Amino acid sequence: MVDLDHCEVEIPCPRCGFYEPVTLKQIRLDGVLICRGCKGNLRLIDHMHEVGKARQAIQRQLDALAELAHRTITLRL
Ligand SMILES: [Zn+2]
Repeated sequence: MVDLDHCEVEIPCPRCGFYEPVTLKQIRLDGVLICRGCKGNLRLIDHMHEVGKARQAIQRQLDALAELAHRTITLRL
């Protein structure tokens, strides 16, 4: 099963523009990280819980797809 929390995206630091890889889980949980470019603290905010909602919607579709893939297929000739 795919866990979308481990998917990474790169976001630019608003101070120096250095791109930092972050996981969806870090964003979803409003994590804090240190920019490797300017060493400033970056606070991640999942505004209006949009990342969490998108993750749930995609996860539901992936689970439905996995269920279909595991069903027995009957072919009539
Ligand atoms: Zn920076």
